Amino acid sequence: MPYSQNYDVLIIGSGGAGLSLALKLADHSMRIAVLSKFALTAGSTYYAQGGISAVFGADDSIESHIEDTLDAGAGLCDPEIVRLTVTHGKSSIDWLREQGVIFTEEQTASGEIKLHLNKEGGHSHRRIVHTADATGKAVSLSLIERAQEHANIDLFEHHNVVELITDSKEGDKRILGAYVLDSKKQEVRTITARVVVLATGGASKAYLYSTNPQSSTGDGIALAWRAGCRVSNMEFMQFHPTCLYHPHAHSFLISEAVRGEGGKLILPDGSSFMQHFDPREELAPRDIVARAIDHEMKKRGIDCVYLDISHKPEQFIREHFPTIYQQCLEFDIDITKQPIPVVPAAHYTCGGVLTDSYARTDIANLYAIGEVACTGLHGANRMASNSLLECLVFAERASEDILQKLSGISPPPPIPDWDESQVSDSDEEVVVSHNWEELRRFMWDYVGIVRTDKRLSRAMNRVELLKKEIAEYYGNFRVTSDLLELRNLVIVAELIIRCAQQRKESRGLHYTLDYPETDNSKPAQNTVLTP
Ligand SMILES: Cc1cc2nc3c(=O)[nH]c(=O)nc-3n(C[C@H](O)[C@H](O)[C@H](O)COP(=O)(O)OP(=O)(O)OC[C@H]3O[C@@H](n4cnc5c(N)ncnc54)[C@H](O)[C@@H]3O)c2cc1C
Repeated sequence: MPYSQNYDVLIIGSGGAGLSLALKLADHSMRIAVLSKFALTAGSTYYAQGGISAVFGADDSIESHIEDTLDAGAGLCDPEIVRLTVTHGKSSIDWLREQGVIFTEEQTASGEIKLHLNKEGGHSHRRIVHTADATGKAVSLSLIERAQEHANIDLFEHHNVVELITDSKEGDKRILGAYVLDSKKQEVRTITARVVVLATGGASKAYLYSTNPQSSTGDGIALAWRAGCRVSNMEFMQFHPTCLYHPHAHSFLISEAVRGEGGKLILPDGSSFMQHFDPREELAPRDIVARAIDHEMKKRGIDCVYLDISHKPEQFIREHFPTIYQQCLEFDIDITKQPIPVVPAAHYTCGGVLTDSYARTDIANLYAIGEVACTGLHGANRMASNSLLECLVFAERASEDILQKLSGISPPPPIPDWDESQVSDSDEEVVVSHNWEELRRFMWDYVGIVRTDKRLSRAMNRVELLKKEIAEYYGNFRVTSDLLELRNLVIVAELIIRCAQQRKESRGLHYTLDYPETDNSKPAQNTVLTP
């Protein structure tokens, strides 16, 4: 029997962004619901390895972090948002430590204990605060523990949002709540709230190969788009150059450090190829290496290339890459003797739901924070480790705005239950799995690392067909988690293609053979789509 529940704030997503916001609000006597469509650890946050960027080093400065971020963003970062985010770096790390996150420390020559700082691509200084090589896990587990302890927060696992609920008042849309599928019980319930926050993560699962967990299907972007929000910069999808290629390996990254320590990229015949693309060869920036691999794979019709570190002494490899060594061995690949099969993989969604500096969207009382949002921080290319920082800073900004406004927002009116009277159980689940595979394959082949006008229009033709088929299926059958994800993914795919088609230049992460140069004849423009 479907039932309705009422909250002050409904947060969709239990990653770094969603849980930070819940904890920042929870001491202010309000009822908060946090949903995750799978387990609470399902999002990308749990898998983040490197860390969180923040200025702590004696030789570092806010200005330098700003400059590096603007450089990476290739002319499309919003300088005010970059400054706002970067200046909140230290306070964000302090807040995480108050929540119990333990970061790696070091002892200086004078005996002082300080945070240990790593250096990553694009950063001119050491400024990556981390917990060994599993920062996301440390953050995620601490925040979950704090949230579980808090009496004002209700956590719902395996609750997948079907649709946002809105109404219009004097021409302006406002949010009222969401219809939510309890996927264990297979029933759709109504959750109303005065404020709703999308913290659903990115959309990298729109691609065949992705470093992201299963949850990154861009649901928040599709939900917001259907509800009437603008979406921006979806063409800027970041690809990581080297993800393990194996039928049973899901989303396992082969760290850039392997190339840093002398790993060579080779073709199936053993010949190297990076020298044809960049004088820095294997040490060229991520996007150049990813593009080179993609070029070779497409030209030769091969499934993967190989990363070979086996020329290094066995002990060196085992000591430097214990996790990669172990993980590959589980797939019968001994990296001390054999090259590692690798493919580039979709890693981070720079675009998303357009938000302002308080994480507000186009719909009253609907916010978007974390990877689902397009705040203006990343521009055309995200700098490593700025994304977890963005989650924390915009959770803080949204909490400030919500605390100021909440008492003035009236509770939603009664909402009709989800109507299942016209649908039946599907007898053709194969349609969903087939369309999933087809979509992710053509997005990879036609809308991936190297694009052309022809490839984009081929992909758009397929999106149109799939949209019709999925709409018909959705209209006839009871919703399932897989169907909801597919329905969202096809919208996300369309938004990526439309943004890519609008950009008649190559810039940052968007590279097209038809316009291979960056257009510097006029100021750089964000791509904004209006529903
Ligand atoms: C392998 C890997 C390594 C990374 N390393 C780093 C790093 O070192 N530093 C860094 O800054 N960034 C890193 N990133 C990126 C960073 O982890 C993410 O950008 C960030 O964690 C996103 O956090 P989030 O809270 O926005 O979303 P997520 O952590 O992805 O959480 C999304 C949540 O939304 C829920 N959800 C989604 N759709 C629905 C729905 N329809 N209904 C209900 N719930 C839903 C999910 O269940 C989940 O709880 C890495 C990413 C990956 C994949």
